Parts: sequence; structure tokens; C-alpha cells
Amino acid sequence: MMAETSQKIRMLEQSPAVAGQFSGFVEQADWQALTALHQNKSEQDVQRALSKTKRDIDDFAALISPAAEPYLFEMVVKSEQLTLQRFGNTVSLFAPLYLSNTCANECSYCGFSMSNAIKRLTLNETQLEKEVLAIKRKGFDHILLVTGETNKVSMPYFERMIPLIKPHFSQLSMEVQPLDASDYKHLQDIGLDGVLVYQETYRRKTYLEHHLRGNKSNFNYRLDAPDRIGQAGIHKIGLGVLLGLEDWRTDSLMMAYHLRHLQKQYWRSRFSVAFPRIRPCEGGIVPKSVISDRQLVQLIAAWRLFDGDLELSLSTRESPEFRHHAVRMGFTTMSAESKTQPGGYADDSQEALEQFEISDERPVEEIMAMIRQQGREVVWKDWDPALSHV
Ligand code: SF4
Repeated sequence: MMAETSQKIRMLEQSPAVAGQFSGFVEQADWQALTALHQNKSEQDVQRALSKTKRDIDDFAALISPAAEPYLFEMVVKSEQLTLQRFGNTVSLFAPLYLSNTCANECSYCGFSMSNAIKRLTLNETQLEKEVLAIKRKGFDHILLVTGETNKVSMPYFERMIPLIKPHFSQLSMEVQPLDASDYKHLQDIGLDGVLVYQETYRRKTYLEHHLRGNKSNFNYRLDAPDRIGQAGIHKIGLGVLLGLEDWRTDSLMMAYHLRHLQKQYWRSRFSVAFPRIRPCEGGIVPKSVISDRQLVQLIAAWRLFDGDLELSLSTRESPEFRHHAVRMGFTTMSAESKTQPGGYADDSQEALEQFEISDERPVEEIMAMIRQQGREVVWKDWDPALSHV
């Protein structure tokens, strides 16, 4: 049965539909077969995966499986060693800059959903300048622009704002609505270095249950956004699933296929993976599949062992205790002192505008002290756009 499942999945990887956009793979994928792939792994499969130096998706399935739970310590030690080898003794810090909480979508898990009666704000040029200076004063050199998804905050707005932001930071990424490849290319020309598009879940049925209204309910357009980002030649592509919407193991396995698909096609780009767990928010939901702290540690170590070059990112959604212990494990990037309301760095008084509650609210100085206490150095700048021409 196991051999049959693996064979079925290998054939799927080689099918012509998969060679194009990733939606071709998802259309043909059998969710139950993928779930069986990790559920049926044995301790021998885990031991085999751990003994290798180069691991494939089948090994990843073993490492995220229930059978790998007794091997957590070994996985973490190997993950830490591999991260030190590839990235050295450093962790880079970034801050999210929320430009707008206006949104025309209805996502069951998000405080910015259209029907939530919260005050909406889209930063204008003056407000943006104050926000940029407040972030700059904290020392950040890498920022992530975040917005809700609406036509009012789309290309014309980005074209106005990016040239005002870019001179202040060496690395500029964005997490906004999915765009066309030509738009990504244009934004790259005016200073964009990276784009994050989290699929939330790869299971269409579940996706449609949680994305009830607006453009985000177009599953395939979102799913193929990383292909379009790669086609535009953007330096960094970020993936993620919202852990808790679906079976976190099967969603992570799908994301591993997605990563390999993108790496084959857009080998010049770098890739990052984040691990958002569902957090309380206005009108929030109860997670379908709860991932415990131990399981999250297992998942993070599995990603590092699957791909030593991957940027792994840890957000302030996680508690100070979790971040304290996780910092050595395999992460290369962390957010710090994040504000998830537009204008929150310059004026922190309007918490009702937040997208979700932050768990680690410590000031950046404390985060830096914690990182150093864990034997790591803080890096503010790990990228210069000039490097993309090397
Ligand atoms: S998750 Fe994004 S698209 Fe959905 S409601 Fe929140 S901001 Fe809007």
C-alpha cells in the first residue's frame, strides 16, 4: 500500500500538468494519498531519512510523521548543525510595515475581514514617512510591507509608496494581494526584493470554506502567484500555510512539493518558509488541526533537514518562551517588536486596528539580548540589491 502511494505520487510529479504552474499538480493530487504518505511512515523510514545528507520529499514525509516524534532531539541537533554550516552564527531581524487594513475579502481567521466593524486606515504619504522613521529609529534595515487585499490598495498605491520607502531600507519585501507577473516585474524595477504569498491551505475544499468572499476566493490565482513571482525574476519568494486550517502535515507536504516545483523552474530565486499558527483575532475561529509546540519544533527541524539553504522565518505570533528556545534550531530570520496595525510604530494607541494579537511584544533590544544569550549574532543587513547582478 505504501509503495503504491509513493509510486502514485512519483508519477504525479512527472506528469506534464505539473511541469507548468503548480495548480496542475494540485488539480491531480489526491489529498488522502498524501495524508497516507506521512501517516504510514515507520521508525525505519525516519531513521533512513535522518541518516542521509541529501533528503527528498519522501524523507520529508517521514520527518513530519507521527513516527518521527521520538526522534525530536536528534532532529533538532541536526537542524542546528546544518543551519550553522550554511548560514553561520547569525539571525537577521525584520519588521512588518502595515500600510493598510482595508480589505475586500472575507477570511474566517482574520481581523481585517471586510465584515468586521473595525476602523480602517490606509497610510498616506505623511503617515508613511512617520512610520518609516519610527521603524528606522529601531535599527531595522529589512522590512516587509503588508496590506489587506482591495483594489484601493493595489498597483497605483504601491507605485507611489515604494519609491518613498526604498531609500531607507536595503531589503524590501511585500505580503499583499497576488498580482500579475508584469506587475511583479514593475515593482522589482522600482525596488522590490521579495514577495511572500501564503497559500493558507492547499486543500481547495477547505480553502473555499475559509475564503468566503472577494478575490482571495480564487484558489488557483493565489496558488499560481509564486510561479508568476518566479517568472518576474523576483529575488526572494516566500511560502507558508496557516497551520491549523487543515491537517498541518498534509499541508506542509504539499508546500514541500510546491517548493521543489518552484526551485526547478526559478532556480535563480531564493526561497523562504514561515510557520504561522492561527492566532486569536476579531471574529476568529477554532483551529481544525491544532499543532502543539513539540509538533511545531518537529516541523521546523524537518524543513531545515529537507533544505539546508532555505530561509526559515519566525514571527512574533509565537510566545517569548517558544521564540527563546526556537532561535537556535534552524531559523535564519525573525520579526521583532511587530505592530500589526497601520501606523502602529509611530502611534501605538489604536490596538483595535490589529490584524491579529501579537504574542511576543518585547522591545527589539530585549529580542537582541535574547538572541545573543542563545549564542547568535543579530544581523540587520544580509542583502544588497547590487548582489542580484552578481
Ligand atoms: S487574511 Fe488578508 S485577505 Fe483575508 S481578510 Fe485578512 S487581510 Fe484580508
